[in-house]
Amino acid sequence: MGGIVPKLAHHAHMRNLPSVVQEAIQSAGLGEQGIQAVDIIAVTRGPGLAHSLGVGLNAAKTLAAALNKPLIGVHHMEAHALTARLTTCDPDHRPVDPDGSASGSSLPIGSDPYPSFPFLTLLVSGGHTLLLVAHSVDRYTTLATTVDDSIGEAFDKTARELDIPWLSGRAGGPGASLEEFAKNSVNPGRYLDRLPIPLSLRSSKSEMKFSFAGLKSAVTRIVNQEKAASPSGEIDESKRQDLAAGFQHCAVTHLCQKVEQALVDCHEQGLDISSLVISGGVGRNATLRSRMDEICSRFKYGDAIATDKMSSKEKKRLKRALLNVTGPKETVKVARSVRVICPPPKLCTDNAVMIAWTGLERYQRGLVDPYDIDIVPKWPLDMLGTGAVPE
Ligand code: ATP
Ligand code: FE
Repeated sequence: MGGIVPKLAHHAHMRNLPSVVQEAIQSAGLGEQGIQAVDIIAVTRGPGLAHSLGVGLNAAKTLAAALNKPLIGVHHMEAHALTARLTTCDPDHRPVDPDGSASGSSLPIGSDPYPSFPFLTLLVSGGHTLLLVAHSVDRYTTLATTVDDSIGEAFDKTARELDIPWLSGRAGGPGASLEEFAKNSVNPGRYLDRLPIPLSLRSSKSEMKFSFAGLKSAVTRIVNQEKAASPSGEIDESKRQDLAAGFQHCAVTHLCQKVEQALVDCHEQGLDISSLVISGGVGRNATLRSRMDEICSRFKYGDAIATDKMSSKEKKRLKRALLNVTGPKETVKVARSVRVICPPPKLCTDNAVMIAWTGLERYQRGLVDPYDIDIVPKWPLDMLGTGAVPE
């Protein structure tokens, strides 16, 4: 619950990587050819802990060079963003098992999986809170990032503050335990007047950034006040459940407000956004998913179509659904809602499938790397596609 110790992680990577690779090859059903059947070697290049990245990258480079296979260095957050293109069922593309494991035949060459570009991506994980436009493989624009804690950290710290038992053996860590704990809240609105919705639209309409430190401090303040007011000096479970639910509500509302603003901004800039992809560990959160569904289905996004053959009744019905009406009378902007796409929970948290998939997407666009690439521990996603990496 206290985070990762870089040195221990480094040693664990060195100790475990060879047996993990061996096991993966054995269980992949590669037949007689064994590892020679593999077409490309994809590996995480950054961002992340330098020593751990180094162990993985060296192993991959050695494998690729020894087998004479193409090497693809993957940006970890691009992989989170592109996972949805692997997991979305589409008649033309490979189906995916409900548990998230890939199955079926490989992607037909030349076809483009869904969601198509450009799409909006909300990456909510242990280290990041990012709202991006994905223009294409290798090209992203960051619309908002956090100025302090990531949302995953905020969930983890709040779970610790509220003494929520970490349901060991359950995937998702403290954040998932908080979500579970909050479900038992009898009065989820109890603390809402004392918990802020960070950078709320009311106070700062145009501020496209995230912040969770203030919300987390408000939780601490309430815990201390409740403890001071209680004869036992403790805060009882039902109040902790209400506080967990209140925290989750405010954190999710904060994300929703920024996504809503981004949808409007993109529309005004003429970007034809079809979907919102939510990924990263916090993307497992059911409240977050359903609130985003609500927003996106309410949001009307326009394609202009000619309606001169339509009856006036049809036109009226369309107009009711319009975001705005532009152009000559016979042409109206027809609304359609933005689709929310979340990979299955298992593929929202870190996994190797997303790295392999991103390797394939990059390979299909000729984005192959030389064998002497280095790790990139700090690597803004916007830098992809420029060919440059930070010093
Ligand atoms: P990054 O991708 O930024 O390097 P990471 O890979 O360590 O970070 P993930 O594994 O994607 O992060 O996500 C872990 C985070 O997700 C943790 O903070 C965890 O508490 C949080 N989390 C997982 N499940 C849930 C859930 N159901 N609700 C809220 N938070 C959750
Ligand atoms: Fe991750």
